[in-house]
Amino acid sequence: MSSSSSPSVLLNTGVQMPLLGLGTYKLVGPEDVYQAVDAALAAGYRSFDSAAVYRNEADLGRVLKELLPKHGLTREDVFITSKLGPKDQGEGAMEGALRSLAQLDLGYIDLYLIHWPGTQGRVVTDQRNPGNRAESWAALEKLHAQGKLKAIGVSNYTPAHMRELIQSCKIPPALLQVEFHPRLCQTELRKVCEEYEVCFQAYSSLGKGELVTDPVVLEVSKNCERTPAQVLLRWAVQQGVPVLPKSSNPDRIKDNARLFDFTLSDTDMDRLSALDCEHKYCWDPSEVV
Ligand code: NAP
Repeated sequence: MSSSSSPSVLLNTGVQMPLLGLGTYKLVGPEDVYQAVDAALAAGYRSFDSAAVYRNEADLGRVLKELLPKHGLTREDVFITSKLGPKDQGEGAMEGALRSLAQLDLGYIDLYLIHWPGTQGRVVTDQRNPGNRAESWAALEKLHAQGKLKAIGVSNYTPAHMRELIQSCKIPPALLQVEFHPRLCQTELRKVCEEYEVCFQAYSSLGKGELVTDPVVLEVSKNCERTPAQVLLRWAVQQGVPVLPKSSNPDRIKDNARLFDFTLSDTDMDRLSALDCEHKYCWDPSEVV
């Protein structure tokens, strides 16, 4: 990726990934995608997180082709993530990943993740899950070798799934994307990622919007004269954790990007981290064998 002012983290592939990306879950339809991506590019976002299951890969690809020149940018200036649908886990993985590449139609995907450790339509305890994960990973490794997926990684993996992958893979995962916010600090997963040099990335940093009214978040927000959303996002990036706030509102998209011109005090960081109660707003992979 070409240099940009957007703060970034170094992946184990040697590539820089922006610390801030726009989440796109529930961002659907050409007009809504256009409005959000336009606002995001103007506000300095250079990373966009999509997935086959979000059903917005085609719109995101089309909109980027239209908007990049308007913002004086090229394909190389942006970092695009997408994910393999859980229905394609296993023998459908190669076809699923090729479908994502075709839908986005941007030449290559910067980061492609296995979205979920299980397989859609199978119970979480299905003994074929580990084999399916291995088959998906092998498909991603092939496409990585061909340069179509510049980096590959996983999402919603538990420490056990991570160890299984690290022990069997040819190419190690570049990144793990999981739910992470003050109520879910993911201490064990972060240690595993550190041990194996896997970038740890947060999703649902705002608790799907619910955390912006947490009393401690509101108090910290008042103290530092920043919005609750900025406090939640800053709490993550100050620990070096990349974030993917989602909004379809241009004002909030702009507001959520103002993270790199202030610092939370150690006391405020600790107060926020003390909210950890292993609360999940999203899906829970802990039962997937
Ligand atoms: P989130 O970013 O924690 O929260 C999004 C919600 O917060 C939306 O309802 C949004 O509403 C609201 N919001 C945004 N900015 C706000 C602000 N400044 N003040 C108040 N409310 C605000 O939730 P998320 O969408 O679950 O997670 C973010 C992204 O992570 C997703 O879009 C997706 O890309 C990724 N993700 C990945 C997985 C996975 O399994 N890998 C799972 C979940 C999420 P408006 O749109 O109306 O502003």
